[in-house]
Amino acid sequence: MNKFTPLILLLLFSTITSTAQYNNEFGSTEECYEKTFTVVAWVLTDTTNSIDPLTENQVRLAIDNVNSKFSGICVDFNLCEFNELPNHRQDTILKGTHDEEIAALYRKKNVINLYFAKEIINEDPDPGPCGYAPMGSTNIPSDTNKRDAIFLKKSCFSDVVLAHELGHYFGLYHTFETDANGIESPTGDDCATTGDLVCDTQADPNGSNDVNCHLDPQDADPVSGLYYEPPVCNIMSYYTPDCEQYFTRGQLDRMLMIMKTGRSYLW
Ligand SMILES: [Zn+2]
Repeated sequence: MNKFTPLILLLLFSTITSTAQYNNEFGSTEECYEKTFTVVAWVLTDTTNSIDPLTENQVRLAIDNVNSKFSGICVDFNLCEFNELPNHRQDTILKGTHDEEIAALYRKKNVINLYFAKEIINEDPDPGPCGYAPMGSTNIPSDTNKRDAIFLKKSCFSDVVLAHELGHYFGLYHTFETDANGIESPTGDDCATTGDLVCDTQADPNGSNDVNCHLDPQDADPVSGLYYEPPVCNIMSYYTPDCEQYFTRGQLDRMLMIMKTGRSYLW
């Protein structure tokens, strides 16, 4: 929590001196971690090895684009191994069952393991997600098989999907998070303790966006009466914008904090 004390002071100051509630430069630390994380890819293929091919080049290109999104903290990712697992009996992954088996069979320790499957089946809340990752925190998790396992659906794989799952892995919540920390007000007053716990991502009602990347329809918070202006182009939102998707400085700082603590064991 100490981490956020200066942020709260800065926020108070900025709301007094400016009408802008949020600022992408807010909380900037210009901090460089100078760390390269090692990534190992495991591609599960079906019995004919013919459906949803995914090439090493596709993964490398996505990682190159992801690296540009983490450049603000001087962090990048390096694909060290690309393993194809042909004729695998589980290229459809039932979350909570098959993922345990796969991570037990194929795993490199203390690096980020990406598992690519044809289908991911999850009963709740999202029946067929494009991916999922273990949530990072400031505590080092116990050394289980799935500790560093990110599962991805081949047909919707992209640099943004990978960046989104890495965001969770390094402790980011969705911009529209309400369950874990409570509902964030569009005033920004409670931004450090509610929603995604990040102050330069505006409160997000998780609606849909128009072609100009605005919330559509406009929606007001019933408590404050303020209209939401969610970060439609943010990597941790669920909008589908036609814009360059980004992490804010506050999100990069939060990930950096978790890279240095709960994920400090990574090579
Ligand atoms: Zn997510």
